[in-house]
Amino acid sequence: MLARDKGRNRAADGASHQQGGESQVVVDCKQTDQHRHALAVVVFLNDTLAETDLRRKRSFEFHLENPDEAATERTLQDTVLAGLQSVDAHQSEVVKWPPGGGTAAIAKCGNEMQLLTRVPPLAPPRLSALRAANQHRSEPLPKLNLLVLFLDAISRRAFISKMPLASAALEELAREHGLELFQFFRYHSVGHSTGVNTLPLFCGVPHSRAGTMMPYWEEAALGGRRVGYASNLCEDWGSEYNFASNRRATGTAGGVDAELVAPFCLPPHYPPPGENPLGNFAGPYSIRPRCAFGRSAHEHLLDWLVDFAMENATSPSAPWLAHGMLIEGHEGTGEVIRSVDVALAGMLRRLVQRQVLKGDLDSTAVVLVADHGLHMGINFLLTQSGAVEHQLPMLFMLLPTALVNRSLHGQQGTIRDSLRRNMQEVITPYDVHATLKHLGSWPARPQDTTHGRSLFDVPAEKAPRSCAEAHIPHWRCQCTNGGVSGV
Ligand SMILES: [Zn+2]
Repeated sequence: MLARDKGRNRAADGASHQQGGESQVVVDCKQTDQHRHALAVVVFLNDTLAETDLRRKRSFEFHLENPDEAATERTLQDTVLAGLQSVDAHQSEVVKWPPGGGTAAIAKCGNEMQLLTRVPPLAPPRLSALRAANQHRSEPLPKLNLLVLFLDAISRRAFISKMPLASAALEELAREHGLELFQFFRYHSVGHSTGVNTLPLFCGVPHSRAGTMMPYWEEAALGGRRVGYASNLCEDWGSEYNFASNRRATGTAGGVDAELVAPFCLPPHYPPPGENPLGNFAGPYSIRPRCAFGRSAHEHLLDWLVDFAMENATSPSAPWLAHGMLIEGHEGTGEVIRSVDVALAGMLRRLVQRQVLKGDLDSTAVVLVADHGLHMGINFLLTQSGAVEHQLPMLFMLLPTALVNRSLHGQQGTIRDSLRRNMQEVITPYDVHATLKHLGSWPARPQDTTHGRSLFDVPAEKAPRSCAEAHIPHWRCQCTNGGVSGV
C-alpha cells in the first residue's frame, strides 16, 4: 500500500509547502497482496481536545479509580471512536481531508493499515475567538519558539545511560551549532508519581489545587503563540489533572491550535473498549516496544512535532510552542525508553538541518523534562540508588546562544550565569513551570508564580536553597535522611 498526505511539508518527499492550503489523502492499494479485492478505506480522526466537550476527555485510568464518575463521563477513547469518519474508496483514490478539522487519518487496504497525520492549517474557532478577545498588542511577537518534550518517569541517570545517541546529539549540537546545553543536577521531584509532579510542572500549583490554573501551553496559546500538543497516551493530561473544573466553571481556557492524541486511543496501540490498557505486554504501558500502525508510537509523535515546527517556520504571524508527551518510560523494566533513542537523536538533528534550531534569537528553545525517575521495578523497590534516582528526574535545556547571552532587566550577569548557578541548586517542577511560562511569554516577563521561580533569574537565597524553600516535602528531600528512608 502507498498512502500519503499530499499537502504535508516534508522535505524528504519533496512535497511543496502549502500553509493554509487544502491537503488530500492519497491511497493506492495496488501494491498490496490483496489488491484484486482491496477496497481502500480512509478513516479520519477528529481533533479530540481542541473542539469536543471537555467532560468527555478523561482517561481510562480515571474510570478505574473513580467508578462512580464512569457512568456519567465518557472516556477519551469513546470520544475518538464516536468521531471517526469513514470514506470508502476504490483501489486507488485521492480523498480530501474533511473541511475544518482532522489531524490524523488511517488508510486501509484489506488488512493493511497506515497512519497519516497533518498539521491543520487553522486554529479551532473557539481558540481564534478567545485570542481575538484577548488581543492587546498590535506588533508581532518576537520569534523565539519553544519545544518541550516530556518523558514520563525518566531520571537524569536513566536518560544518559539509556539514550546515548540522544545525549550525544545534545552535546554535539551545543558544540557545533551555536546552542548551549544546560543540565540540572539537583532537579528534585515533589511527589511519588505523575499527577503530583505534573500539576506543579504544567500548572505551577500543588496537586491539592488541581483545576485552578491552566497549563502553561494554554496560557501561551491565549497569548498568541501557535501551540501544538501531542501525547502518545490516550489521556488528556491538561484536563485530567489540571484545568477541567476551572474551565467548566469559567469557560476561559482556549485549548491548542493542533493536537495529536486520537491515534493513540485506537487499537493496536490502545486496547479495544472494555479491555484493561494497564497490562504488561500490550498497550501504552507495555514492557515491550510500543507500536501503532506499523511503526513505533513515538515515531509518529516526533515526526508530527517536526511537521508542526516546519508548518509554522515560514509563518510570519506568531512564534510556536510544541509540547510532546512520551510515555515509553512508564514500565517496570526501564528498558523500553531505549527504543526512543534513535528517533529522538534524529529529530534534534533534523531541527538543526532545517534551521529551526540555531544560535540566534529567531530560533527555538528546547526543554527535555521528566516528572520523576522510575517508580516501579526491582531497582526502585530494592536499592537505595533506585530510590534516590526516583526523586531526581531529568531536565535538560538546549538554548540559543543569543538568548543566554542576554541579561534580564534589573539583574547583573547574563541568563547563562543564572542557569549555570541553577544547575547546582535544588529546583523543582514549580521552577520548571515558571521557566516554561517565561519562555512562553518571551520577552515579556510573566506574572510570578506562588511556588516557583524562573531559572533565568539569579537565585534569591544566599545559602544553598533548602527543600523547605523549594516546596519539597521533608520526607522526600534527598538533602536529608528523610528522602531515602521516607520513599
Ligand atoms: Zn510519571
